[in-house]
Amino acid sequence: MQLAAIRRFGRIGCKGLKGALLLFVGFSTQILGAGLNSYTDLIAKDAGAMPRNGVRVTYLGTNGYQFEFQGHALLVDPYFSRVDLFSIALGSRLQPNMSRVVGGIRYLAPRADAILVTHGHFDHLLDVPIVMSRTHARLIASASAVDLAKRAGASPGDAVTAGDVRRIGPWKIRVLPATHDRLFGRVPFDQPETHGSGRPQRPSDWICGEPLAFLIEVGGQRIYIDSGGTPAQLPPNERVDLAILGMALPDSRARLPAALERLHPRYVLPSHQDNFFRPLDAGFQFGPLTDFSRVRRDCEQANHGRLILLDYFRPWTLPPGGGSKSQSSNPKQRIKS
Ligand SMILES: [Zn+2]
Repeated sequence: MQLAAIRRFGRIGCKGLKGALLLFVGFSTQILGAGLNSYTDLIAKDAGAMPRNGVRVTYLGTNGYQFEFQGHALLVDPYFSRVDLFSIALGSRLQPNMSRVVGGIRYLAPRADAILVTHGHFDHLLDVPIVMSRTHARLIASASAVDLAKRAGASPGDAVTAGDVRRIGPWKIRVLPATHDRLFGRVPFDQPETHGSGRPQRPSDWICGEPLAFLIEVGGQRIYIDSGGTPAQLPPNERVDLAILGMALPDSRARLPAALERLHPRYVLPSHQDNFFRPLDAGFQFGPLTDFSRVRRDCEQANHGRLILLDYFRPWTLPPGGGSKSQSSNPKQRIKS
């Protein structure tokens, strides 16, 4: 059952012993379920009141984030339904889990300026129409993701491509090209289904489309965020204060050292590492195909910025300032806020 599940998710056949072994290791990890307890020294969180002029970052699980600055909020990839693996594997009809979505929205600001979506997969876009309506946010995503959201009931979104720039409230958002990690050799759900003109229903209806990354500038801070990617497409060659890098699968891990070299971040936040088939209230558990020990090792060797982790719904405020090389490259820097 589990082999069939992952095959279907990847839409490929599993080739031989190597693939079977990888799956066994993956599911063993899922069963054993490492959480964040071993990494308390890396977890960043606010100790008290929100510092002035800082950008507050709240992790929503999977690749979801809320950024807040001076009364404004911006969301990326909010996903609370956390559909279980077997529903995905069986190609079941997907519906947002309303009680979970409402539970997640309780942690959000009442209004958001926009929702940025990196690509159209269900774990990034399924809940977006509801979150849009509840937070009065506009959607900024690729044309195919905007189309999917609209077919799922969302109000019209702003279809963007790499190179576009949007200014909304205090936010300057640069849209950047990205790639999607491959699962056993190919991007999952990367082709439109032949029946895919109505409301998206099955997991494969939520196609990847054009993957995007975003460079968000606010209050003098620069935050880069993507959902992973292959070494064929690296982040821009410019310094950022916070790099949020998807780390779900081997492709993104392979490009990590080069990504850090280009971004020179003050803080590095590996993302999309949790097991997003489990509900959020079950707590953070690393996903079956992640490898955080390697991510940590590569970050320490790269010596660019401070590696941090965030727990679900525990805000952390990105300290203002910094940006100089001496500050940005100091791996001993301690989290104060
Ligand atoms: Zn995806």
